[in-house]
Amino acid sequence: MNDYVLRTISKESNIRALFALTTNLTREAGQRHQTTGAATHILADSLTGGALLGALLKVRHRMAIKIEGNGPARKSVVESDSYGHVRGYVAVPDLAAQGVTSPSEALGTAGLLTVSKDLKLKELYEGIVHLETSEIDRDLTYYLNQSEQIPSHVSLGVAVDDNHEVKIAGGLLIQSLPPYDESVVDQFADRLQEMPPLIDMLVEGNTPEDIAALLYGDEPYDILESRPLSFRCHCSRERSRKALMLIGADEIQQLLDDMGQAVIDCHFCHDRYVFSADELANLVKELQ
Ligand SMILES: [Zn+2]
Repeated sequence: MNDYVLRTISKESNIRALFALTTNLTREAGQRHQTTGAATHILADSLTGGALLGALLKVRHRMAIKIEGNGPARKSVVESDSYGHVRGYVAVPDLAAQGVTSPSEALGTAGLLTVSKDLKLKELYEGIVHLETSEIDRDLTYYLNQSEQIPSHVSLGVAVDDNHEVKIAGGLLIQSLPPYDESVVDQFADRLQEMPPLIDMLVEGNTPEDIAALLYGDEPYDILESRPLSFRCHCSRERSRKALMLIGADEIQQLLDDMGQAVIDCHFCHDRYVFSADELANLVKELQ
């Protein structure tokens, strides 16, 4: 099944709820970065969180979530946009060797969660909170309530197989609509507590539509949209060439003398762009 996010609203409770299935994009990201141990879990949760928050953006808007802690994973960074494209990485992807299996332990208990949004205004919007639990869904919940001051609840789930690959992943976001009412979101969070854990529902094959139906129960709700989600990076050979030119002719000449080539490795997707000696020599000429 393809990845997608389902957007719903309830007029009765004045809330919106988003339900995402992110198995393919989180698995692809894990494979690209060769994550092991808790890193697979952290990357999947970060990407699903990014996909959910990204689904609230307006056309052409973009956002990033950076979680930096004092644990061995160091940080995770994800970016998403209004078109359902998500990309991201964990600073230290190979955590199995270190024997760290708990995501919150791997992130560390002290740190910051930063959300920045490009809303096509003069300045970027930025919101920062301290890590509360280092469990990504609880920290995103804390961020939305504290920093954006919108009563919200986030729940994320991922199952990882013995090869450190994502088996299934997804998440949901419940949010009050203006005028905000915290108690309604609390009621939905309580309902969620009474349901099986999100990851169990996903493993059993429940779709976002099924989980929405279970969460709303007897309450009427509208499905507004089902939007495809995918792992997509916007790096390219041309962008890498421009980045290389920014370091200047002397530095490029240095690379040429020392290495005979330059390799640009994209942080977000791990694609590698190799520039040969001839290409580097041409760049130097172009710059001089
Ligand atoms: Zn890339």
